[in-house]
Amino acid sequence: MNLVLMGLPGAGKGTQAEKIVQKYGIPHISTGDMFRAAIKYETELGLKAKSFMDKGELVPDEVTIGIVRERLSKDDCENGFLLDGFPRTVAQADALEDILTDLNKKIDYVINIDVDQSILMERLTGRRICKDCGATYHLVFNPPTKDGECDRCGGELYQRADDNEGTVQNRLEVNIKQTKPLLDFYETKGYLRNIDGQQDINKVFSDLDALLGGLQ
Ligand code: AMP
Repeated sequence: MNLVLMGLPGAGKGTQAEKIVQKYGIPHISTGDMFRAAIKYETELGLKAKSFMDKGELVPDEVTIGIVRERLSKDDCENGFLLDGFPRTVAQADALEDILTDLNKKIDYVINIDVDQSILMERLTGRRICKDCGATYHLVFNPPTKDGECDRCGGELYQRADDNEGTVQNRLEVNIKQTKPLLDFYETKGYLRNIDGQQDINKVFSDLDALLGGLQ
């Protein structure tokens, strides 16, 4: 089950990724998470990525492609993987084809979670994340029981540095410009499947599940 999950920031990729990983037991490979971890632990990769991420810009391809190649070569990707946040450009998509050819694998589906742009701004600026376990909340749509505290582990909730209004606007603009050619690329290859992301979270997952069940 080799999957790429796509959708603009705030479309619900993280939420659905968690559900897919839980049900199907494949590793969740999020380049954004990998960069955030690298920044937290102040590694060389983190230093390279931070200035781009803080501005809402893409981390350069040579950095990003390298970490994805390394990650997909690991043993836990043997039965599949869920890529989230990669590829973001056609150059990255081309590189991914090369990486997978080298590893004797191919993509099964590129899943696009489709949500109107107007809704995304509201979703993103209200997002809060647990410092300890990474669980995500929304101040309006999915609030924690206790203000600022994670329901799951009691950890402190924070707002991602790139979820403020100015950076979100820039992230959306960058993403919209770059997503279209990518969707065209995968449509031409026959991998693309669109899922309506404006439905209830569980309904989005049941649509996904119906699609993925066919791969087993
Ligand atoms: P995300 O968590 O996917 O929204 O990513 C957060 C930030 O990490 C992005 O705004 C970029 O700065 C960086 N990033 C994540 N994935 C990629 C990628 N595939 N290519 C370049 N930069 C990325």
